Amino acid sequence: MKNIKCYQKDALTFHKDLINYSLNKGEVKDNLLKNELSITKTYIDYKDRFDNYNLFTISAHGFDAEDKVNLLKLYSSQRKSIIELKKELTTNEFNQRINTCPNCTIEKVASLDHYVPKDEFPEFSVNPINLVPCCSTCNSKKKEKWKGDQNLLFLNLYSDVIPNSQYLFVNVVSKTEFTFELKNVSKIDLNLFKVIESHYSRLNLLQRFREDSDEVISELEILISSARESFNDDKELRNFINNHYSTIEKRDGVNNWKVVLVKAMLNSNIYF
Ligand SMILES: [Zn+2]
Repeated sequence: MKNIKCYQKDALTFHKDLINYSLNKGEVKDNLLKNELSITKTYIDYKDRFDNYNLFTISAHGFDAEDKVNLLKLYSSQRKSIIELKKELTTNEFNQRINTCPNCTIEKVASLDHYVPKDEFPEFSVNPINLVPCCSTCNSKKKEKWKGDQNLLFLNLYSDVIPNSQYLFVNVVSKTEFTFELKNVSKIDLNLFKVIESHYSRLNLLQRFREDSDEVISELEILISSARESFNDDKELRNFINNHYSTIEKRDGVNNWKVVLVKAMLNSNIYF
């Protein structure tokens, strides 16, 4: 789990350009232009709360009926600027495609998730900083839920600072008996850790990691057996394997479940 690059341009300009230059003249455009001042205020409010880690307190403007339908249509349309926005949001800072869902780091990206749900907040249906690449499983588990009584329910991978210290661990009994768990051993801010726990629990991540572990362990075993002949002893082999996964850890983060699983397996004396 790690942060992803946020939309770099001005979100409100995207919204305004979409209405002014992508829509044909007619009732829909007239209706959206009529609401432009109100929408401008909601975008400024969103950005302010986003920058101050305070989205929890945002309130919906309350657009309904025709106003709401027209705002939602903006996202569901296949207009060129929406297709280009989706492409932009699924491209990382190294100009590579984001193929894996950043919310779970398991499945393929299938759509964009509205962090603040579009049914309650139709004003943000095409707000680029409210749209996060997502797989279909995470999207269906999240649905319209986004906050509880005390805290947000899901990590915001644009604005929350994902810790660089380890909070995801694997308790290994054998190579077929192990469990993933979350532990706040490095004193991560308690409010942030609550959101981390909620995110992992609501997306069922610990269970989903476990179910997808066979392939990771199989890859580890292939690497160990193919590299074994090249080293004089287990110590050298183990160092090589550790270095290999440390490189992956630098790329994918200290709490990437595959890295955490392999490190726990290597430290368990199952293989060496
Ligand atoms: Zn996912």
